[in-house]
Amino acid sequence: MNIAELFNHKKTLFSLEIFPPKKDSPYNVIYNSLLKMRGIPADFISVTYGAGGSRAQQDKTIEIASLILRTYHTEPVAHLTCVNADREQVLDTLQQFKANNVENIMVLRGDISPDCPPKSDFKYASDLAAFIKKNEPGFNLLGACYPERHYQAESMDRDIENLKIKINNGITHLITQLFFDNDKFYAFRDKAEKAGISVPVQAGIMPITNSRQIERTVALSGASVPTKLKRLFERYRGNEKALFDAGVHYAIEQIMDLIANDVRGIHLYTMNNVEIATRVSDAVQNIVEAENNPK
Ligand code: FAD
Repeated sequence: MNIAELFNHKKTLFSLEIFPPKKDSPYNVIYNSLLKMRGIPADFISVTYGAGGSRAQQDKTIEIASLILRTYHTEPVAHLTCVNADREQVLDTLQQFKANNVENIMVLRGDISPDCPPKSDFKYASDLAAFIKKNEPGFNLLGACYPERHYQAESMDRDIENLKIKINNGITHLITQLFFDNDKFYAFRDKAEKAGISVPVQAGIMPITNSRQIERTVALSGASVPTKLKRLFERYRGNEKALFDAGVHYAIEQIMDLIANDVRGIHLYTMNNVEIATRVSDAVQNIVEAENNPK
């Protein structure tokens, strides 16, 4: 199923993101997590792809996307990065997506790592989008966007201009980088709309549930941390159970506010954590349902 079509009859989507097992962790860990997440009514589940990872590791994205379709009966979205790939490799991966009935792809550049120099066939996600549309036009393509600007973009305006190229090259729907300050998202959405971007934008939300995660996530994502969230973390420092609850509640409040402000969807970065996925989903599912079926 082409998930872009869901927006024709749904106002607000709810989706999950998971990652394949790391090199040394057993496959049954993710399998068991998926089985436990089975009851969560998600419109789709996306599976990340390791830019610069080994072929065997990248194949796990396809395996898990296929597993989601076959056992979870939910539409998978397979992520695909291009910075370390050449055209042949991308064509090969597209064939594997087709063979596994994966119809939706999150088209990404990937981060440039000093350990894995970029190849020259694709410079930006927009190049990958154009290449897929030319060679395999049947796929539906999603793309990433950044409410607080991509770290390499010289300005928000320039980042949005670049985003338009990606959309012109075939992206039908955007998912944001995680953020903790909804006002940043609203400002970005307004700017994007004014610049002529009309594709649906789903908000990427990641509950921060332990103290190690906060520094790491902020450093990696560049997301600003509102005083309210900082205070929660200071207040419950050293009490992991309380921190967990505080992080989940903060994310739920963020989601409620986004839905009240007519966001087109919530994409939950689950970190493969069944409890986080279940608690957030349980808290908001009836609200999402009500938005999609108003009385
Ligand atoms: P692009 O859209 O190519 O943008 C990268 C930079 O180049 C931006 O600064 C942009 O402004 C600029 N730019 C774009 N086009 C042009 C142009 N034509 N001319 C000049 N400048 C241009 N990484 C993974 O490795 N695996 C994943 O599975 C993964 N999933 C992700 C999912 C989401 C929802 C998000 C938000 C990010 C994800 N990432 C993933 C991280 C992503 O790969 C990095 O953020 C990467 O640095 C940028 O990828 P992009 O596709 O947004 O790049």
